[in-house]
Amino acid sequence: MPFNPDPQPTYQPDPQRYHDGVPYRTVGHSGLKLPVVSLGMWHNFGDDKPLETQRSIIRRAFDRGVTHFDLANNYGPPNGSAEINFGRILDEDFRGLRDEMIISSKAGWDMWPGPYGFGGSRKYLTASLDQSLRRMGLDYVDIFYHHRPDPETPLEETMYALRDIVSSGKALYVGVSSYGPELLTEAAEMMAEEGCPLLINQPSYSIVNRWVEEPGDDGDTLLEAAADNGVGTIAFSPLAQGLLTDRYLDGVPEDSRAAAHKSLSGDMLSEENIEMMRSLNDIARERGQTLAQMAVSWVLRDQGRYGEQTVTSALVGASSVEQLDQNIDAAQNLSFTDAELSAIDEIASDAGINIWAQATKSKTREK
Ligand code: NAP
Repeated sequence: MPFNPDPQPTYQPDPQRYHDGVPYRTVGHSGLKLPVVSLGMWHNFGDDKPLETQRSIIRRAFDRGVTHFDLANNYGPPNGSAEINFGRILDEDFRGLRDEMIISSKAGWDMWPGPYGFGGSRKYLTASLDQSLRRMGLDYVDIFYHHRPDPETPLEETMYALRDIVSSGKALYVGVSSYGPELLTEAAEMMAEEGCPLLINQPSYSIVNRWVEEPGDDGDTLLEAAADNGVGTIAFSPLAQGLLTDRYLDGVPEDSRAAAHKSLSGDMLSEENIEMMRSLNDIARERGQTLAQMAVSWVLRDQGRYGEQTVTSALVGASSVEQLDQNIDAAQNLSFTDAELSAIDEIASDAGINIWAQATKSKTREK
């Protein structure tokens, strides 16, 4: 066989993906559209999971119109391995398709030892993005996030670093994650003045974790602060890490996130929480959805004065193609009756799964 130094990828994406796939929503006041379901790589894409499973999930997502893939410097395990694995799959399967993809990464949480591997300094953000690009084999990411508020860095330093990263061409857009409403407003106003609008806000949000609907010190909720400033919202962990699915209704499966003692701890699976899931599961069935599907649809629902675009995208995780398919199918029914919403509200209470709350509280405003 002749030697071919640059073989064509064997993967051919489904030609129907933009006809039969997920719908798209515009992100805030930008010109960018995201699929209503996006795929995150916090878990299931590190070196502890087979590369072929990762490849099949990523291919399937793209085949169904899911163009957005969310990463961070520390996703793995070990830290950085999700970006390396994703970069390998990009190179092997997605050559020629880069312009059809929205790839994001982040820096903010612990990444490397010493004072420059955590926080929101210009030093950390700039170095970390360079490392992420090298790991993924990319020239640029589409969205680069500050991953969590840093009480020890002035907001200006973080925002001006994000602005300069956009100017450098290493990110097309920038966003923030786990910021509260006042800090988000300040950040958005600062970036608007700089002519580099903040694109997107990435908070945790689900039926059993509704902190983004609670008014902050200035009376605005995080959802309102984002919408008022033209910033889109992408909701992470809409399935409460798997709690809002049928995964734990009859015990803890061996291959689950909870069994692996990762970020979903035993107390989140209390009998009270599981009972709540059983009741929510009944409502989902009556809607003709699985619990996971109802949870995805719920974060994407029409929300009063901000309309059905309040949340741009539901950022899900998946450990199999079947889970992913099920979650994407949620997009077939995003509307709820008032009776369904009231029934959900009557059952649902805070399940204690917002493990990011301390990061949000660590810095509420600049002055
Ligand atoms: P999630 O969608 O709430 O949970 C995903 C987990 O739920 C899967 O790993 C799987 O658990 C289970 N699951 C998914 N679909 C299922 C289905 N149809 N039926 C049964 N079980 C199902 O989201 P997440 O993984 O916690 O987070 C999603 C993404 O959000 C991350 O990958 C990351 O991109 C982003 N994120 C961002 C931050 C931040 O600080 N900005 C923090 C957390 C997450 P098993 O693995 O047990 O099968």
